[in-house]
Amino acid sequence: MTHPAQHQDLGHGITVLDAEYIQPGIAAVYLMQQGDQVAIIETGTAFTVPHILELLQQRGLSAENIAYVIPTHVHLDHAGGAGELMALCPNAQLIIHPFGARHMIDPGRLQQGVIAVYGEENFKQYYGELKPIEAERVIEAADNFELDFNGRKLVFLDTPGHAKHHFCIYDETSNGIFTGDTFGLSYPNLTDGDEPFIFATTTPVQFDPEAMLNSIDRLMALKPEKMYLTHYSAITPTQSVVEQLKDSVLAFKTIAEKERPVAKDRQQRIEERMMEYMLTQLETLQSPLSVDEISAFLKNDVTLNAQGLEVWLNK
Ligand SMILES: [Zn+2]
Repeated sequence: MTHPAQHQDLGHGITVLDAEYIQPGIAAVYLMQQGDQVAIIETGTAFTVPHILELLQQRGLSAENIAYVIPTHVHLDHAGGAGELMALCPNAQLIIHPFGARHMIDPGRLQQGVIAVYGEENFKQYYGELKPIEAERVIEAADNFELDFNGRKLVFLDTPGHAKHHFCIYDETSNGIFTGDTFGLSYPNLTDGDEPFIFATTTPVQFDPEAMLNSIDRLMALKPEKMYLTHYSAITPTQSVVEQLKDSVLAFKTIAEKERPVAKDRQQRIEERMMEYMLTQLETLQSPLSVDEISAFLKNDVTLNAQGLEVWLNK
């Protein structure tokens, strides 16, 4: 038996559950309950799935109550557990961006791609195995697709910038948006004041700064009261939060462009500049953590972001 994962009730039938990806507080799964039906937004990895079922059991529900499994995009911290979860939920349909569908139906190429970058051993340790999903259980949600989820209206918005296979989900009931990675990352443990620290994710291989800024504007045009971030949990999208997020998109783009002329060790230099940016921002926001603690916590994101910027520069 594993220990129970952390979860928190956020109101409107929405619960955030820790996906326990790499370490606690990094990636989230959202359960949305509407009557006796449940939608799972983001799945974490195959290792997350037992935690999802355990939480349902605590609430007197089971895998049979899951009507929809909805990863925002097919990166594996969001969709790696989709095949495993679908195999255990007889009544569930998967909803996915049209560009991601084939990777869920036949995950072979997706798996090979990740193994090529991270190696077989890391793949097994972090993701386990990707299971295929029957094509007839997959709903492709094109831009503005509306779902009547047991009487609750969800609208799917095509939001490129982080990935071309990414949608966000507007929930009319909470006036909130499940933003996946489109609205950046904001870890609550990094600050203890009113203002959260938020920054864009530029991870490989489809970062597009202009598309990302447009997607952020599109989300804000809906005047949402809450953003449900996958990394990590709900934040209020105040004007200063939006400005901070957009500034980070431009700052990361500028960092990459400045390093463009010299290709040798470029990713390393981008990483160093980005970490300096993070530390300066957190100093302004008065983080309770030390420089060493912040550096250790953000190391993985900064490395991935630098990799993504390197890919972007080489396009
Ligand atoms: Zn992603």
